[in-house]
Amino acid sequence: MAVVIDKSLCVGCGTCVGTCPNGALDLQDGAAVVNDNCINCGMCIDACPVSAISAPEEEIKASDEWSGIWVFCQQTDAQLLPVSYELVGKGRQLADSCGQKLTAVVFGYNVWGLDSLIKAGADTVLYAEDRALSLAFEIPYASLMCRLIKEKKPAVVLYGATPFGRTMAPMVAASLRTGLTADCTVLDIDPETGLLRQTRPAFGGNLMATIVCADTRPQMATVRPGVFTAPAPDETRQGSVEWVPWEKAADKGLKLLDFAAGKEGRKLSDFDVVVIAGRGIGQKKNLAVVKELAELLGGDFGVSRPLIDEGWAEYPHQVGQTGCSVAPRLLISLGVSGAIQHLAGISGAQTIIAVNTDPDAPIFGVADYAVVCDCMEFARAMIEELKAEKKTV
Ligand SMILES: Cc1cc2nc3c(=O)[nH]c(=O)nc-3n(C[C@H](O)[C@H](O)[C@H](O)COP(=O)(O)OP(=O)(O)OC[C@H]3O[C@@H](n4cnc5c(N)ncnc54)[C@H](O)[C@@H]3O)c2cc1C
Ligand code: SF4
Ligand code: SF4
Repeated sequence: MAVVIDKSLCVGCGTCVGTCPNGALDLQDGAAVVNDNCINCGMCIDACPVSAISAPEEEIKASDEWSGIWVFCQQTDAQLLPVSYELVGKGRQLADSCGQKLTAVVFGYNVWGLDSLIKAGADTVLYAEDRALSLAFEIPYASLMCRLIKEKKPAVVLYGATPFGRTMAPMVAASLRTGLTADCTVLDIDPETGLLRQTRPAFGGNLMATIVCADTRPQMATVRPGVFTAPAPDETRQGSVEWVPWEKAADKGLKLLDFAAGKEGRKLSDFDVVVIAGRGIGQKKNLAVVKELAELLGGDFGVSRPLIDEGWAEYPHQVGQTGCSVAPRLLISLGVSGAIQHLAGISGAQTIIAVNTDPDAPIFGVADYAVVCDCMEFARAMIEELKAEKKTV
């Protein structure tokens, strides 16, 4: 839905044209006109000196026309990100629980492995391909997503809460004047109303809030990488890939010229094994033991927040609500109490071994194996065993 220009107020100064990052404004016959590229970001509204531009009043009201679950699947360098599969897995569960279809939406160029999204659970892949889409750039992506949503009317759209998803999803929500719940940790369908229940930590993580978007469509949510587990591929699943046309917007306003990748290596959330240290490890020097154990297992180490506050480790290693989420195959938790803010970051782990001296520690509520003992004794014993095993191989 585009912004509205009141021609009786517009003095044709052209200020708004240069403000629009999406090439959606032009001057014609001495007045501003808006085209289909408008994603209703609102930037031109404040720029107009005579208040001639306003947001559209119309919202898309909920109705039975809106059906189907969509997952926006982000790619980088033509590779789909792991969070795309995690969300397709969750999307499949949602689609099954309300008897609807699951669609994976991909924009890019020469994107590899579209059929893997079908094997992960999608019924259809909507794919827009163009060299200009190879560099993920939020503005054209949001514009195309809005167009597709208006055409095909999905009831639900999910996005990975990557830096890109966190920028694109609000643009789409603002443009369509619908709701968006960020950083959900639980998603399900209310069996009575059919609405998407979007649950996320609220009030500093002290309670979990369940949010519904009852009146407008689509219902939209973002989910951080690692919150859900990617499903194992089902080689027998069948589905279709539907190519959608894309017309490049006029080259005006903001243009993405190039993309320079950062130098950082693998992130904690990329590892299959994660060993997490909590305050129970006692001293900073014990972190070296935790790191050694993680390395011997071919993984990486994470920490609870107090260890970051103490300066024992760098922030990218923090796991939890205000750190990163991890979904490894094996997670070993050493001396972590299991506060709700910490648990928000480990809910996707497949197998959790928790070690704590307190048999009533909340971490045991989510653990598959509970070990009540000194966590450093446990870590050192495991290191010895692993080293001995390596020697005998
Ligand atoms: C808004 C907000 C956001 C937050 N975000 C995060 C976040 O992202 N991540 C995060 O982790 N926390 C976060 N927190 C902090 C969180 O509430 C907890 O305070 C924190 O997770 C506790 O860390 P911990 O379990 O290491 O320490 P503690 O709670 O002090 O627990 C230490 C545990 O170690 C056990 N222990 C002690 N000695 C030993 C031993 N020798 N061997 C084995 N076990 C032992 C104890 O029994 C205890 O269970 C947040 C808090 C707020 C308010
Ligand atoms: S895209 Fe944003 S700046 Fe451009 S016309 Fe629409 S609301 Fe205005
Ligand atoms: S900034 Fe306002 S007055 Fe100037 S051209 Fe745009 S709409 Fe018209």
